[in-house]
Amino acid sequence: MTATTRQILVTSALPYANGAIHLGHLVEYIQTDIWVRFQKMRGHECYYVCADDTHGTPIMLRAEQEGITPEALVARVHGEHSRDFAGFHIAFDNYYTTHSEETRFYAEDIYRKLKAAGLIDIRDIEQYYDPVKAMFLPDRFIKGECPQCGAADQYGDSCEACGAAYAPTELKNPLSAVSGATPVLKTSEHYFFRLSDPRCQAFLRRYTQDGRLQAEAANKMQEWLGAEGENKLSDWDISRDAPYFGFEIPGDDGQATGKFFYVWLDAPIGYMGSFKHLCTQRGMDFEHWWKQDSTTELYHFIGKDILYFHALFWPAELKFAGYRTPTSIFTHGFLTVDGQKMSKSRGTFITAESYLQQGLNPEWLRYYYAAKLNGSLEDIDLNLADFVARVNADLVGKYVNIASRCAGFIVKHFDGRLNACDPHALREFAYEREQASIAAAFEARDYARALREIMRLADVANAYVAEQQPWVLAKQIDTAAQRERLHVVCSTALQQFRDLTIYLKPVLPRLAGQVEAFLNIDPLCWDDLAHPLPAGHCINAYQHLLQRIDPQQIDALVAANRASLAPAAAEKTAQPTKSAKITPARDSTMDATNATNAAADSASAAVIGIDDFTRIDLRIARIANAEQVDGAAKLLKLTLELGAMEPPRTVFAGIKSAYNPATLIGRLTVMVANLAPRKMKFGLSEGMVLAASDESGQTAGLFLLSPDSGAVPGMRVK
Ligand SMILES: [Zn+2]
Repeated sequence: MTATTRQILVTSALPYANGAIHLGHLVEYIQTDIWVRFQKMRGHECYYVCADDTHGTPIMLRAEQEGITPEALVARVHGEHSRDFAGFHIAFDNYYTTHSEETRFYAEDIYRKLKAAGLIDIRDIEQYYDPVKAMFLPDRFIKGECPQCGAADQYGDSCEACGAAYAPTELKNPLSAVSGATPVLKTSEHYFFRLSDPRCQAFLRRYTQDGRLQAEAANKMQEWLGAEGENKLSDWDISRDAPYFGFEIPGDDGQATGKFFYVWLDAPIGYMGSFKHLCTQRGMDFEHWWKQDSTTELYHFIGKDILYFHALFWPAELKFAGYRTPTSIFTHGFLTVDGQKMSKSRGTFITAESYLQQGLNPEWLRYYYAAKLNGSLEDIDLNLADFVARVNADLVGKYVNIASRCAGFIVKHFDGRLNACDPHALREFAYEREQASIAAAFEARDYARALREIMRLADVANAYVAEQQPWVLAKQIDTAAQRERLHVVCSTALQQFRDLTIYLKPVLPRLAGQVEAFLNIDPLCWDDLAHPLPAGHCINAYQHLLQRIDPQQIDALVAANRASLAPAAAEKTAQPTKSAKITPARDSTMDATNATNAAADSASAAVIGIDDFTRIDLRIARIANAEQVDGAAKLLKLTLELGAMEPPRTVFAGIKSAYNPATLIGRLTVMVANLAPRKMKFGLSEGMVLAASDESGQTAGLFLLSPDSGAVPGMRVK
């Protein structure tokens, strides 16, 4: 460890163990994961912990409904959440559960210390009680008519019709959402954390206004705290009556109290529990990180809806129990899809699981979220059409393109060995100013700015390649000087590509791993920017790195997430889908496969039988050569290999407007192998390659088909 190595502990909010991870959740986990990966690449000692939030009435009732124990429910959901996070490359150092002995230990410990500090009060409160279920009812489990506007079927804490907030006792004609019984008022002893104590108020005023919080969050805190001497905070009820799934509050002499910690008391303590569990596994010193005067850093990434808990209750608990407080709290906004709240009926309430099941690449979403996240509390919008355009243009069109245009020449002409680079062209990349600026943007969680700067560098690299035209140089390598020039240009471009990969690695960890394998190098870290790949370094053959997003994949994803038909139809009349790009599925209960078909058949002709289809001999072909055709406005001449057993075919393809021939060489595609040869003005065409386009082939462009990796020339497509 050097003097500048920071020790950083990072958390994301704990997802509730009562539902699936969806794209809204992922904003936070992806944001946090990028930041953690960046810190680790910089050489800092950084840990990322999280856990399932497992306690409370909803979990208890859900388990009861399913006829299983809460422990069994929590274990199952833990498996589902872990799978979904791994699928999006969220690399926790520990993903734990709040239903753990570690969390119980710190919950009791903090409670006892707050009690010793005179900050726990016990008093009677009157609360709604379900006489049939024999349980006190949380606000959200009481329904009735709004006391303000009279709207029916409103929750016990606020009205969705008029927005009024009220106490459950103010509801008219209240009913228990659990049993349907009319609740009765009943008195019970509750435990309170005395936030109104002058010590808490004074501490929180200092803590929230000393510049550690984002300005917007600090202003909100100021509002909640009120002016000096105003004492706006009230005491916080931290107990719940049995039956409750959680930790029982310890009595003074080890006696049972019959009271449980409210889920929001032990949820943030779950951060400590998860980290303690990690410390035990790795032999680390928990105290060093959590003692009051710890020199380590602690950051919580959260959504703006839980700022109240994290910036008021949590630091006050820690402070008066003798622990360190968070260095900062990084708050983000909510996700909208196509400018609106995620909606099950519109198919935009998309689960992590379905995104992956539909075969969409998780790094597309990581990139897009990063391009939108700027470190503020603003909401971010997943615009589905923009998602497709942005990822295809930036990642495929700008970034991957550099390697795909140059690597082939290095392998073909120079046995995979790099030359020294063109120092003039590299200077732009080696600027310390650029590196520092991109690093500062990542540090500030302004990933949008980081990616803008990275893509500007990608533009510089692409301009260099376009100007040097290695595909032209490759045809003029008769002299040693010309060979040398081609070698230097391609080596320089790959050097630039490597540097871009370093910058993008926090966002695209898996793709960076593929690039490391292709470039034949150790895992990249930030320091590598100072060390160019040496002349003579040997790279591996270029493998296709990243697919474009096909808009039909998005259509299929939305169709697969569309909820039941009736509400969808009703809502569609009232609020037409904003994005015209999304093909509405006609049968919302269709599964993924059918959805794909439905999206495709808007352009389809009459039905054919399977026999008709199998008459077409579709094969995987390798593009061995691609070149311009003198005098042809639209055509490229392709030489296609169909494996060792077949002679290569010449095909004239109308794809000149979309592809630079040099970028096609070595690629696999799909061809019609039994099409009758056709005599053309420029020669005989012996087949056809397949490409996607819209009706005109002009507006969106042309997209040559590619098989998944593993396919080899000659394979049949059926
Ligand atoms: Zn109302």
